[in-house]
Amino acid sequence: MGGFGSCHWLLAVKSVWQRYAPTRDILGLLEMFRRMVNESIRIGLAYNVYSLRNLSLLSYNQLAQFDSPSCYKLCAISRAAGILAARNKSVKRGFPTKTPYAVRQQLVSCYGFKRNNEGLEIPVSRGKRLSIPLTKHTLDVISQPGVKVRSFTLSRNKLNLCISRDVVLVECASTVGVDRNLRNLTAGNDQQIRHYDLSETVRIARTTVRIIASLRRDDTKIRTRIASKYGGRRTSRTGHLLHNPTKAIVALAMQQKEAIVLENIEGIRSLYRKGNGQTRKYRGRMNGWSFGEAQRQIEYKARWVGLPVIRLSRRETRGSSVSCPRCGERLQSDKRLKRNLWCSNCRVVMDRDRVAAINLARRGRVRFARSRPPIIEAQGGAVEAVKGNPTPTVIPGVDAPKLTQSTKS
Ligand SMILES: [Zn+2]
Repeated sequence: MGGFGSCHWLLAVKSVWQRYAPTRDILGLLEMFRRMVNESIRIGLAYNVYSLRNLSLLSYNQLAQFDSPSCYKLCAISRAAGILAARNKSVKRGFPTKTPYAVRQQLVSCYGFKRNNEGLEIPVSRGKRLSIPLTKHTLDVISQPGVKVRSFTLSRNKLNLCISRDVVLVECASTVGVDRNLRNLTAGNDQQIRHYDLSETVRIARTTVRIIASLRRDDTKIRTRIASKYGGRRTSRTGHLLHNPTKAIVALAMQQKEAIVLENIEGIRSLYRKGNGQTRKYRGRMNGWSFGEAQRQIEYKARWVGLPVIRLSRRETRGSSVSCPRCGERLQSDKRLKRNLWCSNCRVVMDRDRVAAINLARRGRVRFARSRPPIIEAQGGAVEAVKGNPTPTVIPGVDAPKLTQSTKS
C-alpha cells in the first residue's frame, strides 16, 4: 500500500556476545593492545593532547615499536583518546582523578576483521590471521538478513560483536504504555493489559543486599570490591530475567503496530536519596530496582525491529498512576483496596498498574500525534480504515479534547 506518509529508514544497532577460548596469540595480542593504549595515554598526557586527531598524529609513529597490525594501532589511539576525554570531563567538573591507565585487557576494533564460514577472522600480528570460532547463536544472529558486523570487542574470555541493520520505521496506529514497578511490568492500553511478574528480581536484589550487609570486613576497599561483584551478579541475573518479558512486550507491540510509551526515568534515583524522609530499607529497595535495565532492553529490542519508542517526560507523566483513565478524576487509595484505586466519579475500582499503563499509552498518543505527521492520519481513523482494522480506537473522557486539539495543530 504505502500511500500514507513516507518510508523512514533508521539504523538499528545492538550487540551479541559469546565466550571463547583465547589462544596464546590472542592473549599476546590483548596484552600488546593494552600496552599500546597506555603508551598513547602517556603521550597524550605528556603533550597535553586530547583530541583523537592530534593524538593520532603524535602517537601513531611512536607505536611503531609494537609488532601490531596497523589497524589496531588506530583503535588503541582511539581508545586512549576516549579515556583521556573522560578524564578531562572529570577534571573540569572538579572530581579528584588519578592518572588514567588501562588495566583491563580489552581490544576493540572496527577494522581488519572478516567473517568466514564458521568464525571471525582477525589479524593477530603482521601478516598473521586467526579465526575465532563463533557459536551457533552468534552465527544465527549475524546471519539474519541485512545484518552487518560493525566492530568486535575481545576480552580474555568474551567476544562481543556490535551489529547493525537498516530497518523501516514501523508505522503505528496506536500506542502501548509500559509501566514498571517493583514487582511487575504492566503493558497495555484501552484494549488490553498484560502483567509480567518480576518478583524474582526483587528476591535477587534483596538477597544481594543481605549478603553485602552480612560482610563484616572493616576494610572498605575489600567490601566495595565484594559488593560490586555481587552487584554485578545481580545485574546479570536480573538482566536475564527481564529478557523474556521485554521480548514479549516488544513482540506483541510489533504485531499490533503499537508504539511503545515509557516513562522517562532519568533522575529517578534522586527520588530515593538520603534525607528524603524515606527509610533506609525503602531507599535500598527502590535503588536496587531494575527499572533502568527494563527500559534499556525494551528500547533496544524495539529499535532493532523499527518500532517507535516514546519517552514521556516527568511533566507528561505527572499523575499518570493516580488519574482515572475514564474521567481524569484523581483516584483514591485505601488500605482495604490494597493495590487498587477507586474513582468516586465513575464509581469503579481499578488496578493501579493498569491505570498507569493506560494513562501512559494515552499520553504517548498525544505526543505521537504531535510529532509524527503520518501517524496523525491514524488518529483520525483513515489509516485504520484502510488497513482494515476493525476496532477504531475510541478515546473517551478528558483526554479526547486534548487529542483532537493536537491532531489539528
Ligand atoms: Zn473516573
